[in-house]
Amino acid sequence: MCGIVGVTGIDHAAELTFLGLYALQHRGQEAVGICAVSDGVATVSKADGLAADAFDDESLRKLPGRTSLGHTRYSTAGGPGLNNAQPFVVRYHQGDLALVHNGNITNGMVLREDLVQEGAIFQSTIDTEVIVHLIARSRRTTPDEQIAEALSKLVGAFSVLITVGDALYAARDPWGFRPLVLGRKGDGWVVASETCALDLVNAAFVRDVEPGEIIKIEDGELVPLARLERVERPAPCIFELVYFARPDSRLWGVSVDRARRAFGRQLAREHPADADCVFSVPDSSNSAALGFAEESGIPYELGLIRNHYVGRTFIHPTQAGRDFRVRIKYNAVREVLEGKRVVVVDDSLVRGTTSMGLVRLIREAGAKEVHFRISSPPVRFPCFYGIDMPTREELIGSHKSVDEIREHLNVDSLGYLSLEGMTGAVGDGKPYCHACFSGQYDAPLVDLERGYTVATTC
Ligand code: 5GP
Ligand code: MG
Repeated sequence: MCGIVGVTGIDHAAELTFLGLYALQHRGQEAVGICAVSDGVATVSKADGLAADAFDDESLRKLPGRTSLGHTRYSTAGGPGLNNAQPFVVRYHQGDLALVHNGNITNGMVLREDLVQEGAIFQSTIDTEVIVHLIARSRRTTPDEQIAEALSKLVGAFSVLITVGDALYAARDPWGFRPLVLGRKGDGWVVASETCALDLVNAAFVRDVEPGEIIKIEDGELVPLARLERVERPAPCIFELVYFARPDSRLWGVSVDRARRAFGRQLAREHPADADCVFSVPDSSNSAALGFAEESGIPYELGLIRNHYVGRTFIHPTQAGRDFRVRIKYNAVREVLEGKRVVVVDDSLVRGTTSMGLVRLIREAGAKEVHFRISSPPVRFPCFYGIDMPTREELIGSHKSVDEIREHLNVDSLGYLSLEGMTGAVGDGKPYCHACFSGQYDAPLVDLERGYTVATTC
């Protein structure tokens, strides 16, 4: 998973891009990059780690121009290293081209193989580079047509931002797996993965970039280009609402906070518990646990405290075990838990390792009964559309029944939100991608079917 931002028509665009990335840091912490375009010339700067560590006033000053793109990278798949960091910048026959991508292209390996046969030389191992080659090799004459043609060859998940010269393009795949929102700031435009980035830069939300839509913004004017071919049904990723997006964002007309609360309320209806208090595993399940408390009438507590200063890469040399990692990140509040029957609400169960460590912590702090509730169904299938999930073997839900998982976690009861309950809670029959829960893959898994080992990228 990744976060992307584009700014155009605003002086020192890179500064706003930086702020946008800061708001989208939760979508990726492994690498960060900003590109700025001034009079058609693109300058790029990339670094490992967090936006705030990578950029300061001085480095942003070296990125002049009124058009800019930025990216925060999540996954190490595709290989670490700055070669795989974005924005991807090349000089092609129409000028400087920069591109950032959130999602995962499911025919990336097949396309890459064809391009290599034709003589293309790749600098990275990420699927994003394929898009750049397709644009550069297109026989069409204008960047508009070249970009449209390149995007029409892709299958899978892509929210992309592209600059050619000073023009900014924004596009989403026809299924609309990943979010992308459009905002207005004065005479300029801001495009970002989530609305929380628009809020921080004081841009007014205009609308979502629609599934299959390609937009061009040049000289302050927004021009919709020809749409990509429609698919049977759009499939925005429901896991964005469950876990990934920030609760203060609105995606696809849905408030993430409201969605999570509705999941929590529905969970309380499906799996009630006789208990003294309910609490979350901060921060990802805060809203869902609130929903559970509201519906059940069980008092909401702060039973677990999270250390906010834990870097993702922190591993103690002598105690690298997962259990220790859980303890570094969370601690239990004994005064809340002692002698109590507690409901713990988490948003998802993936490997089960965090949860197992948490249950141990909670019991050691004196809880009498532990009722675990998950505000999504069991994760049973890998994601090929951009969420960095472990392989099927590592997903506890793929090979253990709910009762076996209950035993494994050592909890008194375990309840998952049902698939119908989840989709129903975000309502009115709107279609979503829920492949990780249901195995129903909307976009064809072309590479996988051709026998390629597929890496989920971002
Ligand atoms: P588990 O108990 O399965 O080891 O971990 C579950 C926890 O992982 C939940 O608290 C959930 O919020 C979190 N989680 C779910 N998906 C992701 C993800 O893609 N990345 C990270 N870092 N955490 C995740
Ligand atoms: Mg969590």
